[in-house]
Amino acid sequence: MNIGLDFDGVIANTGFIKSLAAKRLFQKELPISCVKTSVAIANNILTDEQYKILRREIYDNYSWLVETPAISKSIESMNALIKSGHKLEIITARFPEGREHIESWLAKHSINVPLTCVGYGVSKAQSAKDLDIFVEDDAKNLVGLIKYVPKLFLFDQPYNLDEEVPMEIGRAKDWDDLLSKIESL
Ligand SMILES: [Mg+2]
Repeated sequence: MNIGLDFDGVIANTGFIKSLAAKRLFQKELPISCVKTSVAIANNILTDEQYKILRREIYDNYSWLVETPAISKSIESMNALIKSGHKLEIITARFPEGREHIESWLAKHSINVPLTCVGYGVSKAQSAKDLDIFVEDDAKNLVGLIKYVPKLFLFDQPYNLDEEVPMEIGRAKDWDDLLSKIESL
């Protein structure tokens, strides 16, 4: 099957690095469950301006990506899927300017998978329309893919557990759960 994967929050543990950045930049405790912009601001953890700075840092300054760990079991699971004959593709909302940095991160983790950078705020629908499956940690992005991709999974993260998703979207608790759900399709 053709399987599309989001990068941040599915392969790379960007929630962890946002939390670390809040501590280093602003000496603030930002739990991973609160890393979404609206939640961080609504809970008075960061100001609007601080969150903007944090976003800019995380997504434009490559040194944060270098420090970003992989999500548990993402690397070995991707390799297992490739080994079983699936075709993987990463579709991220990061800007194309950051492409080589993501490619270096992937190379460092021995992952060789095609990468598409659509840019922040741009729909992934055009890039994802030939896929059989897409996996994301952002429910809003998945809702936009319902018409285009037959099987959608929201990858559980502490910051998306409360989100209600339409019935067309399944949930994957972690990589083990995702693999077993893909293999049972
Ligand atoms: Mg994501």
